Amino acid sequence: MFDVLVLGGGFAGLWAAAAATRLLHATETGPVGHSVALLTPHPDLVLRPRLYEPDPARLRVPLDRVLGPVGVRRIAATATAVDTVRREVTATAPDGTRSTVAYRRLVVATGSAVVRPELPGAALLHDIDTLPAAVRLADHLRALPEAPDGPGRWTAVVVGAGFTGLEIATELVGRLRALAAPCGAADEVRVVLVERAEVVGAGLGTEARPVITRALDELGVERRLGTTVTRLDGRAVHLADGSTLAARTAVWTAGMRASALTAQIPAPRDGLGRLAVDGALRVRGVEGVYAAGDTAAAAAEGGHTVLQSCQHATPLGKVAGHNAAADLLGLSPVDFAPDPYRTCLDLGAAGAVSTIGWNRTLREGPEGFAKELKRAINETWISPPADDPQELLRRADHRVAQRQPVPPTA
Ligand SMILES: Cc1cc2nc3c(=O)[nH]c(=O)nc-3n(C[C@H](O)[C@H](O)[C@H](O)COP(=O)(O)OP(=O)(O)OC[C@H]3O[C@@H](n4cnc5c(N)ncnc54)[C@H](O)[C@@H]3O)c2cc1C
Repeated sequence: MFDVLVLGGGFAGLWAAAAATRLLHATETGPVGHSVALLTPHPDLVLRPRLYEPDPARLRVPLDRVLGPVGVRRIAATATAVDTVRREVTATAPDGTRSTVAYRRLVVATGSAVVRPELPGAALLHDIDTLPAAVRLADHLRALPEAPDGPGRWTAVVVGAGFTGLEIATELVGRLRALAAPCGAADEVRVVLVERAEVVGAGLGTEARPVITRALDELGVERRLGTTVTRLDGRAVHLADGSTLAARTAVWTAGMRASALTAQIPAPRDGLGRLAVDGALRVRGVEGVYAAGDTAAAAAEGGHTVLQSCQHATPLGKVAGHNAAADLLGLSPVDFAPDPYRTCLDLGAAGAVSTIGWNRTLREGPEGFAKELKRAINETWISPPADDPQELLRRADHRVAQRQPVPPTA
């Protein structure tokens, strides 16, 4: 039996385990007596927001080096069922062994997954939702120089012009050119964004859109708007408007949904499959269960609901972990109160764009400010400290902001 059992080793789960540990340590009077466990199938935290980058295999942090030093036990398994009455989780280890893990308080932080379409040739679609998928795409691109020459060899179609689609499309221009150049084919590189809406970045705000459009023009990213993909055959991508694009690479980015495990919790869920939680991130109507990250439909500032984002997953995890431990100790819970909403969208070699607030006001700054900000987010802020228990517990405090000052641009 674990005092706090956290399901999922992403941003929300890692910080939930750290925050629960922090509070339990702070209140221990004698030898440490409380147990916190993290149940997750893989040994690493995957830096998911960076999976559009060229070398995804290195975008991970070993969970044991982060949580091991503070005594969090890692259980390598996938949760398959949750009995919220008996307070037990059924889990399957990588070797197929099934076990039952009992808990006193549970934090559900099993994240989300891209919703892949069902259409002929869908298996040929790449995505960058998980580390293995991003590595598969990187391997596929690296093999292109050896692939037979012909139409579409250096063309990539990206489906979905939302946040992820824009980041991978703009990045693919440089990645494909670097691979094509030694073959004398840099000029043949084509990246085409296919989007069902009539505009790119429909959810990213009207102020950011002109910046995004300029960046796409600068990089030569083509757009096919108001249409979608209907079929793929490995040589070409067929669109609903009747046109065909010769392309050897296609990447699907549209739509995310909360982990299927949320269906195991007898509570209301929203249209994205996220569990309804109260201000303290307790799952509504289920004793002893909290939700955080992409599995939680929590209230954010100004009547908004959190987005499935790293920006929200980290503070959600800290509050859920803190409150799960507080409940055990008979302490009052704290309410989730996120920092003001911001975005920072990478635009590859064309820079980046940053907005603030839910109406997405463009953030002005010196030349290169947004790109520098994105670099700070990707390379520093989202990475948890490894082998540094003091720093981990300091940052696990829900009152400590994730953001640090941005270094001035040259
Ligand atoms: C390409 C890309 C770019 C992104 N860019 C940004 C960005 O710029 N800014 C931003 O804020 N957000 C961004 N996001 C979104 C962000 O990555 C997610 O919102 C964030 O990772 C959510 O954290 P999480 O801990 O809830 O879930 P995840 O990071 O998805 O982690 C879930 C964890 O649960 C584990 N798990 C799943 N099922 C089970 C199970 N049944 N049992 C046990 N463990 C399980 C998984 O293995 C994983 O360890 C991006 C996402 C992608 C894919």
